[in-house]
Amino acid sequence: MVIHMLNVGKIEEGFVLDHIPAGKAMYLYRHLGLDRRDCPVAIIKNARSNAMGKKDILKVECPVGTLDLDALAFIDHNITVNVIRDGEIIEKKKLDLPKQLVDIIRCNNPRCITSVEHELPHIFYLADESRQIYRCRYCDVKYDERDGEEFPLG
Ligand SMILES: [Zn+2]
Repeated sequence: MVIHMLNVGKIEEGFVLDHIPAGKAMYLYRHLGLDRRDCPVAIIKNARSNAMGKKDILKVECPVGTLDLDALAFIDHNITVNVIRDGEIIEKKKLDLPKQLVDIIRCNNPRCITSVEHELPHIFYLADESRQIYRCRYCDVKYDERDGEEFPLG
């Protein structure tokens, strides 16, 4: 039933991001860099959900492989990623918290080497999976959500 509903407004190739917490679709839209791309995007807000009450859905028509799934998983790994090819859902991906984030978040420690060596990639590693804590690979400083205005890079 759900799959049938998602086929309304057909996508040939791309993604349907389902089970997005209500109100978070625009945040995802910006932080996945979709505002800077010219691919068709449909945003469905406050769709009814048995599991969640309300949810948002994002449909993105783009070549499979061009969406940053690590960035998506970092934002919310409970989102369901439906991969679409030839207008059909060919895969439902479950996201895991990435073990490593490369150039997705920025280290804000002024003494970190990345604040001097600007060509270095910003690399964070998953230090504590249950508490979703990431630390800078260079200086070990913990990523703080309040630094998030700088996210994403680029
Ligand atoms: Zn650092």
